[in-house]
Amino acid sequence: MPYDVIVIGGGPAGIMAAGRAAERGKKVLLLEKNKALGEKLKISGGGRCNITNAEEDIRTLLKHYGDAEQFLYSAFAQFSNKDTFTFFEGKGLPLVVQARKRAFPHTEKSEDVFKVLEQYMKDGKVAVKTSSPVSEIIAKDGMIHGVKAGKETIVATSYVLATGGVSHAETGSTGDGFNWLKMLGHSVAAPTPSIVPLAVKESWVKSLSGTSLSFMKITFFAEGKKKFFKTGKLLFTHFGLSGPLILNLAGKVGDLLQEGTVTAAIDAYPDTDHGALEQKILTVFENNKNKLLKNVMDDIVPHGMIEAVFSLVPTIDRETKVHSVTKEQRKLLADTLKALPMTITGLMGFDRAVVADGGIPLTEMDMKTMRSKLFSNLYITGDLLHITRPSGGFSLQLCWTTGFIAGTHA
Ligand SMILES: Cc1cc2nc3c(=O)[nH]c(=O)nc-3n(C[C@H](O)[C@H](O)[C@H](O)COP(=O)(O)OP(=O)(O)OC[C@H]3O[C@@H](n4cnc5c(N)ncnc54)[C@H](O)[C@@H]3O)c2cc1C
Repeated sequence: MPYDVIVIGGGPAGIMAAGRAAERGKKVLLLEKNKALGEKLKISGGGRCNITNAEEDIRTLLKHYGDAEQFLYSAFAQFSNKDTFTFFEGKGLPLVVQARKRAFPHTEKSEDVFKVLEQYMKDGKVAVKTSSPVSEIIAKDGMIHGVKAGKETIVATSYVLATGGVSHAETGSTGDGFNWLKMLGHSVAAPTPSIVPLAVKESWVKSLSGTSLSFMKITFFAEGKKKFFKTGKLLFTHFGLSGPLILNLAGKVGDLLQEGTVTAAIDAYPDTDHGALEQKILTVFENNKNKLLKNVMDDIVPHGMIEAVFSLVPTIDRETKVHSVTKEQRKLLADTLKALPMTITGLMGFDRAVVADGGIPLTEMDMKTMRSKLFSNLYITGDLLHITRPSGGFSLQLCWTTGFIAGTHA
């Protein structure tokens, strides 16, 4: 028996589309190549799942989607972030809003988000086939005529593509959808890692791996020229820098890397000017004249950074008595704490990217229905669409919106 709708890909966008189409009474089949559905959803937000962003003003919300803003009004009029709250809370999963308007399930467990979606599909009797990689989309004369999964060719009236992008390929997002859509005649903007950590050359950064430091100011330079700065929390990793502040700056840093060598400097005391910092160091030294320098550094250097700072000032001996530290050495310490230097060697790859830019240009889509302008029975959703956005729940919101609309019109 042919299906009304075949959904390819069981991530958040595909599950939402399948559940919604079934809710409308459609006979739906969801094909997923992994053994389990929603692998990327399950690791979203570090397993806590930043499910949406609670910004109330729709204009402010949509501005976060950059050039895509103008294309998204009609879509969000059908299913907005408010509808995400209604949807999940109505199905027994209250959401809570945390810093920067990020919304999470109150349990802070992605698994609970997944359970709601799974139940949504069960309620609508969606047929789910896991371990079923689709290998081909059969198209002719502006219509899709079937999909090949294993030896089978499966047929439906409409098809929803929800195979995701190319970040964290181990979750199943290996770019199959991009390849098919290219072959079908859509243009596909080349994916680049977007919300992604930075690779750094210096070993002092790597030595801090696992340390997270709040209220640090990081300034970026291209070819030695100051470009921009941001203040917030930094997460040091074994390859460089991460954390929401860095992830959201990665796009801009990527642009700088096109200009040449990119360096950065961290100011560990952004609200203390240079003179005041020198004075603070002097006061600590005067109160601890006879101690060894290494034993008073805790009062000067942010927690966890002592070894890293010593490695940056090799001319200062940690075993020296505080009263022997010279004025020049004190100044050097202050200089270092105000500008901890590093070289950015690049953006980390797709394997560490939260999302990758790229995908189907929205000009090739009817955004009121999520239908392809080239194929009258093909709907495209989620990370397959070329929409740049920051972290903060904006990606999953796109999945709920585009999945719901595709499921409504397919
Ligand atoms: C580490 C990490 C953390 C994140 N945290 C957040 C967050 O907190 N908040 C937020 O908003 N966003 C977050 N994101 C982004 C968000 O997870 C994605 O935007 C979202 O999962 C995309 O959903 P999707 O349904 O479009 O695609 P995917 O989730 O990638 O799902 C695509 C599915 O299609 C399947 N598939 C692929 N090819 C085939 C094929 N040939 N045949 C059959 N099935 C196929 C895949 O196996 C997969 O199950 C995070 C991403 C990562 C990597």
